[in-house]
Amino acid sequence: MPGSLPSLPAVHRVLAHRGLGEALARLGRTAVRDAVRTTLSEAREATRAGGPTPTLSEVVALVRAALGSVLAPAYPGVVNATGVLIHTNLGRAPRLAVPAPDYLALEMSLETGERGERLGPVVDRLRRYFGSEAATVVTNNAAALFLMLSAHARDRDVIVSRGELIEIGGSFRLPEIMVAAGARLVEVGCTNRTHLRDFEAALTGDTAAILVVHRSNFHMDGFVASPALAELVALGRRRGVPVWVDQGSGCHLDLASFGLRHEETVQEILAAGAEAVLFSGDKLLAGPQAGIIVGSTAAVAPLGAHPLRRALRPDKSALVSLAATLDAFLAGLHERAPLYRLMAVAPEELHRRARRLAARLRRAGVAAAAVATRAVIGGGTTPDQTLASWAVELPAGTSLAARLRVGQPPVIARIDNGRLVADLRAVPPESDGALLAAILAAAECGPSS
Ligand SMILES: *Cc1c(COP(=O)(O)O)cnc(C)c1O
Repeated sequence: MPGSLPSLPAVHRVLAHRGLGEALARLGRTAVRDAVRTTLSEAREATRAGGPTPTLSEVVALVRAALGSVLAPAYPGVVNATGVLIHTNLGRAPRLAVPAPDYLALEMSLETGERGERLGPVVDRLRRYFGSEAATVVTNNAAALFLMLSAHARDRDVIVSRGELIEIGGSFRLPEIMVAAGARLVEVGCTNRTHLRDFEAALTGDTAAILVVHRSNFHMDGFVASPALAELVALGRRRGVPVWVDQGSGCHLDLASFGLRHEETVQEILAAGAEAVLFSGDKLLAGPQAGIIVGSTAAVAPLGAHPLRRALRPDKSALVSLAATLDAFLAGLHERAPLYRLMAVAPEELHRRARRLAARLRRAGVAAAAVATRAVIGGGTTPDQTLASWAVELPAGTSLAARLRVGQPPVIARIDNGRLVADLRAVPPESDGALLAAILAAAECGPSS
């Protein structure tokens, strides 16, 4: 008896409902009207099939749900409670937030009004901070290596130890980059041991460089050996072959000041005589995505003229952010970069915050405890080292973790032995309130814990 069905609200009435005000403002009338029509026709089908007729506010809720994924931010901000400071899936290092102006003197000298050098300001800062003769910037470190190989080693040999033929994140595989850049990979030594004489025996008139690659994401222990960088440099100098170092992490300060073991810095590698050091901008440099090359003029100058240079040009907002990050480091103000603020927090302070969060959760009836943890820097930096940290631990891990991920704000925690561990090392203190509210909301709407 279709005639007796209560009727659905008209399109214009749904559109006029204040529950759709924000959707209209953000998405425009056409998109929202289309969603209303689709929702109404689906509701009509469901009603014909015997379902109840939705009310006006129910229709509005259905339209909002249909638009939900469009209304959500494209890249939602999250609370990083993983205990991994440089988390590739969460955008690597948190960086200094410096918005690029709408218009900026990017390629113009304000003194002369003539065309200026786009990379000039960052190159100047890189040279001063790292004390290198020359420097340049491309889109990321993979691109930096690709450009070096293309410019210097096309159809020539590049010698790499078998212990350093790395894969990073599934898509960066050293032997494949070599092939793509047209360089010939000459592997020397064994997985665990490579000696100076192995490099020496591989040098020919066709050798473009010796390439040393940092073991960013693994660690070898036991019967292992590789020549010191200074020995390789001395060998290279005797034979007129440059040594390049793909250092990756961009470690540029003494990690011992954060309770970690000292890692070789870019500055130390340059001081040891490497012709070029390559690294990412968004790992320990705590800046934007970028690939940085510092070194001699002989290594860097030919890159500027290479046709790929233009294809690998960094975006203006990355240049603005990189320059601001380097300015902070040049001024000795490392903790202006969020990464170093997080790394510098004392474990006792994290302990105090974890205890406080756990107590507030328990008061709300949610089982929680403060537990000591080990956090990592991550992102291909210091694979065998951890930082002291504290976390809030809750039972019923897996289901709670899933609810936290879709909460407001989304919280990314880790699961340890079936328990949820929300590590505070990568959580700025001002996010504790949001973290608490998100856990409370996720714990309440799930099975009682
Ligand atoms: C991280 C890393 C890369 C890749 O750097 P991207 O900036 O991600 O392209 C290359 N080499 C090493 C040694 C690394 O650690």
